[in-house]
Amino acid sequence: MSVEEGLQISILASGSTGNSLFIQSKKQKLLVDAGLSGKKITQLLNSIGEDPADLNGILVTHEHRDHIHGVGVLARKYHLDVYANEKTWEAMSPLIGKVDNAQKQIFALGKTMTIGDIDIESFGVSHDAVAPQFYRFHKDGRSFVMLTDTGYCSDYVRGLIKNADAYLVESNHDIEMLRMGPYPWNLKQRILGDKGHLSNDDGALVMTDVLGARTKRIYLGHLSKENNVKEIAHLTMENVLKEHDLGVGYDFQVYDTDPDAASTLFAI
Ligand SMILES: [Zn+2]
Ligand SMILES: [Zn+2]
Repeated sequence: MSVEEGLQISILASGSTGNSLFIQSKKQKLLVDAGLSGKKITQLLNSIGEDPADLNGILVTHEHRDHIHGVGVLARKYHLDVYANEKTWEAMSPLIGKVDNAQKQIFALGKTMTIGDIDIESFGVSHDAVAPQFYRFHKDGRSFVMLTDTGYCSDYVRGLIKNADAYLVESNHDIEMLRMGPYPWNLKQRILGDKGHLSNDDGALVMTDVLGARTKRIYLGHLSKENNVKEIAHLTMENVLKEHDLGVGYDFQVYDTDPDAASTLFAI
């Protein structure tokens, strides 16, 4: 599908088993993270009618395996530029195999970069990686925000991500399911801590604070396989938004994502 204005996005995969997102403008086709095998990401791209050979680059959020597993393979095979901040580069270099220096791009934390015709703002999050950063994409007055892998959302980040056209927001776990579930105590503490992941409730409360008149779509991302189910994540988001008198279902819609199926390409 060609794009004349704005951005088109598909969440190729989202969840604790692997994350990747496709975003395109008139002139650029980018991935954010490639946390599944190169083969699987190729299949996911093909499922939305895209070819990895047409990609221009991969932005990396942080060095956890569920975000970088396929980065090296795809970068080598298709000669893609890879963007990450300096500390993340240091941490992920030994994990992704050889990437040509010419393909290594620095995307400094907290800075804005223009890649082709897309302006991209990076912002730091609170997560147990060396320097995790997420992104807000701007094109033709429209914008898209990604916010997952964060234990909490600071006022500073809330200020940066207000009133986007669409969001991918973390709904990692249901707090009760996590507490009652099979994880060992220290792992539960890690997930619940300030450097872990946003729960269904936390993600929903962030949205009540940041969504605005432009907002049309909220995608629930990075669901835990063990400590969440889609229906609970979805209901929690909708209920919290309703409790805050926000127009869920008419002003904007809430969408699920899948760990191994691409969402339909949508335009903003
Ligand atoms: Zn993750
Ligand atoms: Zn992570």
